[in-house]
Amino acid sequence: QGSPIATVNPYTGERVREFQALSAQDVERAIDAAHGSFPDWRARSTADRGALVQRAGRLMRERKEELARLLTLEVGKLIDSSRAEVDLASDILTFYGEHGPELLEERPLPVPEGTAVLVNEPLGVLLGVMPWNFPLYQVARFAGPNLVLGNTILLKHASSCPQSALALEQLFTDAGVPTGVYTNLFVRGRDVGKIIDDSRVQGASLTGSERAGVSLGEIAGRNVKKSVLELGGSDPFVVLDGHNLERTVYAAFLGRMGNTGQCCVAAKRFIALADVYDAFLAGLRDRMSEVQPGDPADPATTLGPLSSEAAAELLMEQVRDAVDKGATVVLGGGRPDLPGAFVAPTVLTDVTPDMRAYREELFGPVATVYRVEDEDEAVALANTSPYGLGGAVFAADPERARGVADRLEAGMVWINHPTASRPELPFGGIKRSGYGRELGDAGIVEFANRKLVRYV
Ligand code: NDP
Repeated sequence: QGSPIATVNPYTGERVREFQALSAQDVERAIDAAHGSFPDWRARSTADRGALVQRAGRLMRERKEELARLLTLEVGKLIDSSRAEVDLASDILTFYGEHGPELLEERPLPVPEGTAVLVNEPLGVLLGVMPWNFPLYQVARFAGPNLVLGNTILLKHASSCPQSALALEQLFTDAGVPTGVYTNLFVRGRDVGKIIDDSRVQGASLTGSERAGVSLGEIAGRNVKKSVLELGGSDPFVVLDGHNLERTVYAAFLGRMGNTGQCCVAAKRFIALADVYDAFLAGLRDRMSEVQPGDPADPATTLGPLSSEAAAELLMEQVRDAVDKGATVVLGGGRPDLPGAFVAPTVLTDVTPDMRAYREELFGPVATVYRVEDEDEAVALANTSPYGLGGAVFAADPERARGVADRLEAGMVWINHPTASRPELPFGGIKRSGYGRELGDAGIVEFANRKLVRYV
């Protein structure tokens, strides 16, 4: 059960390297080391831990080229996007290394007499379960803030990016993080539950599919342990008028095609008001038709493969289901005649509630475009999704856009910009996109014991 832990180049299909899953005894030893290292780690100051995390950020930047090549090899990311991911992950580590201590400072509470303070203390050993779509960024946003807080980390990465997982562990080791404080675990999905059951583990954070999140949340819940879930989305991208249309179309293109569409906050459902619908649709179709599939390691390539053949097939099933039920294919709809896990850039209209594409996450270069008469209809359609991660609203008047943003069921809404992630801003969703936040002042205390100390 579970995927083999292996690097398979999604551009060539070649199995490059395989790794053995840890034995039960090895897992036991890793939990013990993480637990054993906690008292010393928590006893250090946040500034001391922050300095090590900053050093990890610096080392990551020094290793940029090597890490970027690894990402492109393991998950098929365009090489420039891989470099950008190294920069973002490094910025996150640097930001929390530097600002984490002040975000974690104790805070006085207003009380009628005497003094009360809220102190942020670490919980202990945490399990991180991370996906392959941003192998470095996903780990940085979980591990960076939590290491500064003083938690110790067991990291189960996606089975498809084992070398990235090892490179991260090496990075923290080389930065001087003590043994046991950050440990990579090569384990299968079925073994994750046993780790959460272990009384030495205090909490778990997962980014990935709804299926995996439901399983982890259920196990954490029955153990009365804190969990954070980030389970993807089907973000609306709402276009209210034709103001600066060329820029809006470009934002739509970037929002959908970034990371070959494999992004939890990718713009997935484009909702345009009737006045601008035709021009927006034509613009997006033209822009998406320009991409050139090829070797993701070649900087001239503008469309990489999906992360695996299975991912490409899943996306094609979703497209075929829509087409069989009457969706209109405005662009693409198939797979380019190339080896590798490619899906052609695709634009679908006339997508209806009986289709999988209407309610499921489309994790690849497939856009669905909807026409609506007014803002109310745009909001109602946007909110039909079971997901509630991000969203974007485009309009000449930012206050008009804000009115729509306030009505979207989402954890994050960007105005006149595709939804994105920045080191200092909180990230997370509602509904079936999960719960809790990563990053920002909200994210850094998700796994803190927010302890009250009252002096009377
Ligand atoms: P998964 O959810 O299977 O993978 C994410 C992580 O969860 C991996 O480390 C995986 O390990 C682990 N995992 C899988 N099953 C369990 C389980 N039962 N308990 C605990 N951990 C588990 O995603 P897939 O790769 O299968 O992608 C499927 C879909 O998920 C995508 O098409 C997309 O819709 C969504 N997704 C969303 C992401 C996001 O950023 N929100 C990221 C990735 C996927 P292993 O690799 O060993 O199976």
